[in-house]
Amino acid sequence: ATLGVAVIGTGRMGADHVRRLHEVTSGARVVAVADVDAERAKAVAARVDGCSAHTDPAAALAAADVDAVLIASPGPAHEATLLAAFERDLPVLCEKPLTPDAASALRVLEAELRLGHRRVQVGFMRRYDPEYAKLRALLTTGQLGRPLMLHNRHRNVASPPFFTSSMLISDSVAHEADVTRWLLGHEITAVTVLRPAPSANAPDGLRDPQFVVFETDGGALSDVEIFVNCGFGYQVQAEVVCERGTARIGDGHALVTNMAGRWGGTIAQDWTERFETAYDRQIQTWVDATRRGEVTGPSAWDGYAAAAVCEAGVRALEDGGRVEVELAEKPALYG
Ligand code: NAD
Repeated sequence: ATLGVAVIGTGRMGADHVRRLHEVTSGARVVAVADVDAERAKAVAARVDGCSAHTDPAAALAAADVDAVLIASPGPAHEATLLAAFERDLPVLCEKPLTPDAASALRVLEAELRLGHRRVQVGFMRRYDPEYAKLRALLTTGQLGRPLMLHNRHRNVASPPFFTSSMLISDSVAHEADVTRWLLGHEITAVTVLRPAPSANAPDGLRDPQFVVFETDGGALSDVEIFVNCGFGYQVQAEVVCERGTARIGDGHALVTNMAGRWGGTIAQDWTERFETAYDRQIQTWVDATRRGEVTGPSAWDGYAAAAVCEAGVRALEDGGRVEVELAEKPALYG
């Protein structure tokens, strides 16, 4: 049967996911949406036949024909909706971050453990990006030997007005925390954040860019340049340095042009463009697995681990120096 989905939060990501479920994904339909902004919820619901609009997420979960939930509200609102979904034993795709800090992420993990089965997939969509998937497939063949270092670059054109220095870690570098764990198959054990003099193009008081170094339990280093006011484009790159070679993605060389004494291409301006395929594949994979009664993809454990890494990263940013990541024991449910 077609999967009836309730979408919670109809802002930039939520509205795009409603469009995706409606127009791109097969096997699903949006049956309810919720947003604290009633007008926004109504406007998005009006684009889909038979979709009801709510201001209370719990009311959307209780609507007729809801089989699964997609959470795209801001991070601090995720925990309440996750717990409400667990009460109804509904499968959930939750946008990153699972929750904004390790303690709340652990509460979610423990609530899922009490259910006794996995219900959550976390929206770390880079795992569904064809380039990242190729890089991971290459690493798992072992041809290049053991990974020693991972170099990541994460650049945005400009940061939104509400963006704070710690959000460079908790909102942006959260993706590299997951990518590092997933590509290398290691847990991150310590975080160091170095801070060059801020760019003149960064808003007053924003520590932008930052240079983050992760240490892993497999003895690798993963560094991240995060620069959210680079001005020229949205760029995400990764290079793995292994014992017998290196591999790199994110150069965006899909189209190279030659003209009047120049060569070059274009740079994506935001994530919706750069990761469109990843979002499409993430949602289709989630819908397919959910219809089979399975939960695949990044787990609540992955969401918790990323939250713990980011919390350590924010402390490293504020206090300077190296901060160790404290992780709870990994429950058997998460392999
Ligand atoms: P946004 O501000 O555009 O949208 C959030 C919406 O949620 C708003 O319409 C707001 O009114 C609504 N809202 C606020 N509190 C709510 C609540 N308690 N219940 C229901 N609705 C509520 O933000 P966004 O950029 O769409 O981000 C949403 C989520 O997606 C965040 O978790 C963010 O980290 C994540 N995100 C992920 C990616 C990615 O690449 N995977 C990119 C951007 C954002």
